[in-house]
Amino acid sequence: MQPTSANQAQALRDGTLPEVEEVRPGIYAIALDMPGLRPPYAFSYAILAPGGSRDVHLIDAGLGTDENWEALQQDLGSLDRSIEDVASVTVTHMHHDHLGLAPRIRDASGAVVRLHTREADAIERRATFGVADDPVATLARWGVPESEHEALLATGAMAADSGTEGEANVSIDERLQDGDVLQLGVYEARVIHTPGHTTGHICLAIESEGIVFTGDHVLPGINPGIALGGERSADPLGEYYASLDRLAEFAGAEVLPGHGFRFTTLGERCAEIRAHHETRTREVAEVLAADSESSVWNTASQINWSYGWEALSGVSLLSALSQIEMHIARVRAQS
Ligand SMILES: [Zn+2]
Ligand SMILES: [Zn+2]
Repeated sequence: MQPTSANQAQALRDGTLPEVEEVRPGIYAIALDMPGLRPPYAFSYAILAPGGSRDVHLIDAGLGTDENWEALQQDLGSLDRSIEDVASVTVTHMHHDHLGLAPRIRDASGAVVRLHTREADAIERRATFGVADDPVATLARWGVPESEHEALLATGAMAADSGTEGEANVSIDERLQDGDVLQLGVYEARVIHTPGHTTGHICLAIESEGIVFTGDHVLPGINPGIALGGERSADPLGEYYASLDRLAEFAGAEVLPGHGFRFTTLGERCAEIRAHHETRTREVAEVLAADSESSVWNTASQINWSYGWEALSGVSLLSALSQIEMHIARVRAQS
C-alpha cells in the first residue's frame, strides 16, 4: 500500500485537515473535520462538470456540523462553485460522517440524494449497529460486567436509531443497485454493492480513471469495523470477505477512501485487511479452545487490540465487542 498523496498522508500524521486536492481532472478531495474522533476527518469528493455546466456531484458529505457546512461552502467557493450548484450527493453508507450534510445540501440546492436500496431500507427502519432491540439483553449476552453497563448504555450507540440520529428524516431520492452506472460530470461511475461495514455499503468505480471510491469498506491504516449498521446478517464476516473479493478486478486501482489518504494498490490492501481479520478469528479460536464457554467480554479482554484492551471505551468498546461476537460465530460455524 503506497500513499499517492504526500499532502494527505502528512496531514493524517499531523492530525490536521489536508487541503483540497485535485485527484483527477475535475475530481477534488475535500476533507471535512471530525473533531475529537478517530479518524480525524472524512472525505467528500466533488466532481465538477466541465464546459458551461456548473453542476457539482458529491460522493459522501461529511459529518453534519455547522463548522463542516461552512467549510464545504468555502471549499466549493475555492473551486468557483457553490452549494446551490450541487446536483447530486451519492452516499457510500448511512454513517453520520458520510451522510451527515446530505439533507442540508439537498435543502439548499435540490440535489438528488442517492444510497443503496438496502441502506435506504435500514435508515427507514432506523436499524443500526445490529445490536438488537434490547441493549441490556445484548450486554448480558456478551457477558459484560454490570459495572460497565451504565457507561456503555450512556453512549447512546445501542439505541435502535443510533447512527441515523439527525439523519432519520433524510429523503432518499434514488435507490441504487449493484451494477448501476451513474453519470457524474464526464465520468461514468459503476456502483458496486459491498456489504460488510454496513449491509448497504457501496463502492464506486470510475474505470476510465483507474480509481475506486471505497467509503469505509477499504481504508488505509484502519481495519474497518464490520456489521455496524443495517439488517443483521448470519455471517457478516463472510459477507465482508465476499465484498473484498468483489474488488479483485480493481486490484491495481488507486483507492479514494472515506478517511485517511489515497493510495495504491487496492488488491494489496484488501489482502492485508482480510489477513487481519483471519488473525483475529484465530486469536478468538485459541481463547475458545481453552475455554469453550468464554463470553464475548472475556474473549475480547484476551485479544491483542491495536491500542490495548484498557484503552477501549464507549463506542469503540461496543464496536470491539460486536466484532468479537462475529468472530466467535465464525469459529463455532467452522468447528
Ligand atoms: Zn462507516
Ligand atoms: Zn466513516
